[in-house]
Amino acid sequence: MTILGSSAAMPTKRRGLPAVAVEREGELLLFDCGEGTQRQMMNSRLGRMQPSKIFVSHAHGDHVLGLFGLLMTLGMSDRKAPVKVFGPAEVGDMVEDVLGGAGLPFELLFERVTGGRVVKEKGYIVRAQRSDHHGESYAYRLDEAKRPGRFNPDRAKELGVPEGPLWHRLQEGKAVRFHGREVRPGSVVGPWRMGRSFGYSGDTRPSGRLQRFFRGVDLLVFESTYTSEYQDEAEEYGHSTAAEAGRLAARAGVGRLVLTHFSPRVPDAGLAVKEASRYHADVSAGNDFESFDLPLHD
Ligand SMILES: [Zn+2]
Ligand SMILES: [Zn+2]
Repeated sequence: MTILGSSAAMPTKRRGLPAVAVEREGELLLFDCGEGTQRQMMNSRLGRMQPSKIFVSHAHGDHVLGLFGLLMTLGMSDRKAPVKVFGPAEVGDMVEDVLGGAGLPFELLFERVTGGRVVKEKGYIVRAQRSDHHGESYAYRLDEAKRPGRFNPDRAKELGVPEGPLWHRLQEGKAVRFHGREVRPGSVVGPWRMGRSFGYSGDTRPSGRLQRFFRGVDLLVFESTYTSEYQDEAEEYGHSTAAEAGRLAARAGVGRLVLTHFSPRVPDAGLAVKEASRYHADVSAGNDFESFDLPLHD
């Protein structure tokens, strides 16, 4: 996961507008696409990698204006593979208005998000949940499929299973038959291993609904527009303070919390981390270009 922009509302010298990239098995997924995202990508470890799916939280300019430039550049680089954009209906209208007549050389598909499952691929699913902000807005959660357990080759040899296709079948969790005997995967393969999970809040007040939605995620990127000093502003404008982000992450049993979407009025992300750390043990500031690895579960 790479933070491409960590500022709220307007960019600063050191922070671009909101965008978070998730790379998994060669595929690039973007969560929000603030103005300047394509250039931030070039300056990050992603280089010229191209996103296949873009999940937009809501139609506020700071989260969506980068989409059009990025997609036009993909068009000029002669992309052929389709790109899917997910978001509330309003984002679909913007995409149609700006790019409807652009003659992009690839298929641009917009899928309206209303909550629930939005993507189901072989290796992962993505779900959306209404968040609590001004206008229709969504948080997203990605869950990888569980992986088969660890294969024990010594045990397979002891049981006399010949190496080759039968081993593969066992690794996939299927029983095998040979010489009239049956060997079940449970005797040579360890328990299933959990897939990794990732959450992205977009702009929101903390809520019980989001706390449940993010239950147990390994890595959560949560907005932290303000520090506690600006609690009133957070409530008025539909945002969270760092302390609120930390409290929600702790209650949801999140593994690791990364704060982002810092108001230009709160330039010291260190203070935000300190506030959230009162509630959660693993908090980082998601500064531009910073990457966070999610190790596979054993
Ligand atoms: Zn915002
Ligand atoms: Zn907003």
